[in-house]
Amino acid sequence: MADPKALNLKTALILGVSGQDGYYLAKLLLKNDYKVMGTTRHIDSTSPALKSLDQKNFSVIYADIRDTEGILNLITLKKPDEVYNLTGVSSVAYSFEHNEETLEANAYAVIRLFESLAQMGLAKIKFYQASSSEMFGKTTITPQNETTPLNPVSPYGVSKALAHRAADRFRKNEGLFIASGILYNHESPMRPTTFVTRKITNGAAKIKLGLSSELVLGNLDARRDWGFAGDYVEAMWQMLQAETPDDFVVATGETHSVLDFVSTAFKYAGLPGGESKYLKTDSHLLRPTEIHQLVGDPSKTSKTLNWHRSVNFEDLVKKMVASDIELLCIQNGLTKPEVPAFN
Ligand code: GDP
Repeated sequence: MADPKALNLKTALILGVSGQDGYYLAKLLLKNDYKVMGTTRHIDSTSPALKSLDQKNFSVIYADIRDTEGILNLITLKKPDEVYNLTGVSSVAYSFEHNEETLEANAYAVIRLFESLAQMGLAKIKFYQASSSEMFGKTTITPQNETTPLNPVSPYGVSKALAHRAADRFRKNEGLFIASGILYNHESPMRPTTFVTRKITNGAAKIKLGLSSELVLGNLDARRDWGFAGDYVEAMWQMLQAETPDDFVVATGETHSVLDFVSTAFKYAGLPGGESKYLKTDSHLLRPTEIHQLVGDPSKTSKTLNWHRSVNFEDLVKKMVASDIELLCIQNGLTKPEVPAFN
């Protein structure tokens, strides 16, 4: 393959490419004429979605963020212009059962990497750090912005807060170019069903197709600021094109309850009012500590980076329900049912 530097292609390294955000980001960077390398810990299970990307400028490499030396070797060998850290534990629910793994992958390994980049004089590499709204935890401030104090209540939130603080310190004290994206919940048809949105759209589609008779959830009153993952990776990229690195909240500024999400999903699955018939709750699905409401103020990001979301709540739910109905029909050899057309 021709040297990307000679062709003036920018090179990006995505740490943790096999998840939802890795896919959307790789797709965006390829569209923007980058050469993209992505790491995964599960090389055997490279998803069909990743395989569908333009393979000429895209490659997948086995690497684990916890292996600092291995990651540094990759960086010094491939000399990426931009590194996006999307790796680690991404599910809050999972983090409650896996404290140590969450802290190691999401915080300590990231801090070791910052330290090594500083020591090796690699401060000019543009680094995106995936921070999270979960860091705000039990905040009483609504909406939250870049200056809202962190008050995490889950192992995931604690790990993200540690790395976020470290990023700020390495940026200010060591001159590293680290931009931290404080992303609120961002969803898509590629979300795993361990997240409530996809569990709901998959559940509604199964009920519509007669493959299931109920949807069982935990807390229905929790409120989140849900946006579309494809929009959020645009903000990640824009953060690394800015003159100076900073913290940026990426959110819609709207909040909806889990129950709102369920009602909207049933509506688009052609099961309006299905909540009373199909929705059940199970106390085993409640969390040891719950965040009741999160909503972000993206005005700094909109103003500084000119970032705006393109998909609203209704369209997000509709997109996910339609995708789940289609996928289940293919998997089960079913004919796609008529669902009401909504404008
Ligand atoms: P999070 O905001 O990153 O924790 O994203 P999730 O999609 O995992 O959870 C969003 C909210 O949905 C949380 O308040 C959960 O307690 C609530 N929730 C209710 N039932 C469920 C469920 O069955 N699975 C998940 N993952 N969350 C649920």
